[in-house]
Amino acid sequence: MNFNRVVIKVGSALVAPQGHGCSGQHLLSIARFITQCHLAGKEVILVSSGSVAAGRQLIQHGSPNPSIPAKQAMAAVGQMKMMANWQRFFDVPCSQLLITHGDLKDRKRYINIRNTLRILLENKIIPIVNENDTVATDELKVGDNDNLAALVAMVSEADCLLILSDVDGVYDQDPRTNPQAKKLKVINQITPAIYAMAGGSQNHIATGGMKTKIQAAEKAVDNGIATFIVDGAQPEAFDQLLRGENPGTLFTPQDSVTKAKKHWLKHTLKSAGQLVLDAGASKALTTKGASLLASGIVQVNGQFDVGDSIEMRCQTSEQIIAKGISQYNSRDLNKIKGQHSDSFEKLLGFCPSKVIVHRDDLVLINAQHKE
Ligand code: GLU
Repeated sequence: MNFNRVVIKVGSALVAPQGHGCSGQHLLSIARFITQCHLAGKEVILVSSGSVAAGRQLIQHGSPNPSIPAKQAMAAVGQMKMMANWQRFFDVPCSQLLITHGDLKDRKRYINIRNTLRILLENKIIPIVNENDTVATDELKVGDNDNLAALVAMVSEADCLLILSDVDGVYDQDPRTNPQAKKLKVINQITPAIYAMAGGSQNHIATGGMKTKIQAAEKAVDNGIATFIVDGAQPEAFDQLLRGENPGTLFTPQDSVTKAKKHWLKHTLKSAGQLVLDAGASKALTTKGASLLASGIVQVNGQFDVGDSIEMRCQTSEQIIAKGISQYNSRDLNKIKGQHSDSFEKLLGFCPSKVIVHRDDLVLINAQHKE
């Protein structure tokens, strides 16, 4: 397998093949695959649908198409069942993250989600993400877990997105009605013609369809994340993935995750402020691949918030040496600059992060110091 961190999206059709409840039928081979990924030293984040299906029979709704509040109640009761269903397949602990698009759009919450995922993975805990259906209104929700999984892959900086479905890839025509339909094994560019092949959702319990999967793939590849659509009901597909083969459709990114991210940090994000560093911190950033610590900051210029992009320069020169995402706002940084992280709690009353700019959120600017 050519990835280090993978987001695996499991659709409702796999969690609840009958359309209601929770089943282990397909999850067993998915869980086995996840365990094998762990054994190979890979990190795995799950995005699982199925809460609405799991709660369906527990909420009286009296119609084949339940109201939104009824679905939200189904999600509330079904989420626990769905999580319990997953946990029984693993010896390692599972954790639950319920998020909405509103959370991912908010810089502070985005950073919080990212930090949480980072720590869960460091502690060998499986993060299981779903949309927070109970609170999400139309304007705030992602709406389907394919796109949610792409956003989770971006926030977690995964290098692979694996969309498990009840189809084994993208076909040039509908394979259910046309036996001549051919599978597209590799898609290097997502064009309107690819969307046209996808059509809408065919499954009565799944929210998306091939269209939302292609939207997800488009988001992911733009961020350097290789994306597969694979039939999660076929255990052999997982053996193929483990052997580095492609059992479905692979969408290839143009750039690597690091390159795409560095490009975004360097060229797209506008800096909201500047940190002036002492010579030691400047050297640690440019030659040692270190994160930025507060102890090396001598001055904070401008007003910025947590999650904003900031520039860094050495106090001996005007030249910008790095750009990155700040874990603190400028007001708090003014209180902790020059200090050791042990004193943050005393100075601020809290310590969300020991580093000010994490190495993963930092790009060097000067060509001489290119990584
Ligand atoms: N969040 C929904 C659920 O857990 C699923 C949305 C989707 O499958 O795209 O039932």
